[in-house]
Amino acid sequence: MPSTQPFKYPVERQFVEPDWKRIPGYREVSAADWESALWQRKHTVKNLKELKAALGALLPETLALAMERDLKERATMSMLITPHMLNTLDFSDLWADPLRRYMLPAFDDRRTDYPSHPKATRDSLHEAEMWKVEGLTHRYPTKVLAELLSTCPQYCGHCTRMDLVGNDVPQVDKLKFHMPQPERHQAILEYLRKTPSIRDVVVSGGDIANVPIGQLEAFVSALLDIPNIRDIRLASKGLMGIPQHFLQANVLQALERLAKKAFERNVDLALHTHVNNANQVTPLLGKAAKKLLEVGFRDVRNQGVLLRGVNDSAKALLELSFMLLDHAKILPYYFYMCDMIPNAEHWRLGVFEAQQLQHDIMGYLPGFATPRIVCDVPFVGKRWVHQVAQYDREKGISRWTKNYRTGIEADDEQALSRTYEYYDPLYLLPESGRQWWAQQK
Ligand code: SF4
Repeated sequence: MPSTQPFKYPVERQFVEPDWKRIPGYREVSAADWESALWQRKHTVKNLKELKAALGALLPETLALAMERDLKERATMSMLITPHMLNTLDFSDLWADPLRRYMLPAFDDRRTDYPSHPKATRDSLHEAEMWKVEGLTHRYPTKVLAELLSTCPQYCGHCTRMDLVGNDVPQVDKLKFHMPQPERHQAILEYLRKTPSIRDVVVSGGDIANVPIGQLEAFVSALLDIPNIRDIRLASKGLMGIPQHFLQANVLQALERLAKKAFERNVDLALHTHVNNANQVTPLLGKAAKKLLEVGFRDVRNQGVLLRGVNDSAKALLELSFMLLDHAKILPYYFYMCDMIPNAEHWRLGVFEAQQLQHDIMGYLPGFATPRIVCDVPFVGKRWVHQVAQYDREKGISRWTKNYRTGIEADDEQALSRTYEYYDPLYLLPESGRQWWAQQK
């Protein structure tokens, strides 16, 4: 009987690895090479010339020109994309492809009226202001973010950490860590040892897939020796971008040792990844995620980013969630609203749109696997999109409250009583709201 529900389950898409031999540059690549992390890293596309060489006639000339202009005039991240990711593009319409729209941005994708919100900033979440040690953000009472390095195996156009992560680009000279890495890691551990109120560490970057496995093991093992640390979450989009990395014997052996130690010490060790569209859920990702569970990880969870043209419909979000859950044992966890970084307006959604999407995805997935759509409010942290305290739709200003002090507000008496603002994209506002913003300038 045909489904009469707004969303139809089972999902009508196949769980198959797309054939890389359809891509001109990869026609001669053997399965052994394709499944080698080393081969993937060596052949990762770093610029437009390499992209053209890989895709050949599959890359329309108009799109290549628009990417070239974007890299010069708008991009906040340099180009970096693995062959594995390129293989999940839909070449029948590359302009509209969701992965292409955020991994390989084109000038024509962006708004020309309002490329940036007037309140957009490089470090829109003020993470560096909350560093206790270079790269250690203490924003929530019991949780910290430890940035082990500032590189990734792939660079996403909308990266919220564009201030720090990746190479310099014409639009952005990146913030650099000054401390040498080994000393910085030791200083992070030292801060955690002497701060018993912290129980939860997100080990991130960048992407932990770029930390040499011996260094990662030593750092996480040292974390496990700190009695107050009860939850460790490793952050890696690379699980999707280069699943081959996580299928290497030495990597799996090290992760297994860590998982065993975590289990023995009653600590939850999980990996958080970042998949934004169902097209990226392929058997190689499923295999890598399941291996992590097999070696003893408590969970693999997904934190996607809500992006216009990538996943901004209930269908796209539900399809992605079901593909992750049914085929890769990855728990759909969060969708973040895109942060207010420069040149991101065409990707961002308004809070009212996010609220509607949250409404529309309820009830299909198990409750524990229904992703929460959250707004990461500057100086606050994650709030579910329905938690907004006041919302001026005319000006697109939402106001949010919080119930804890961030690491920079110990003596701020107003911290818990004031409201904090987030802004909808200006082009979504009525004319009167846009005029109000024009007068603010
Ligand atoms: S993988 Fe994460 S940190 Fe790296 S560029 Fe993408 S969003 Fe930024």
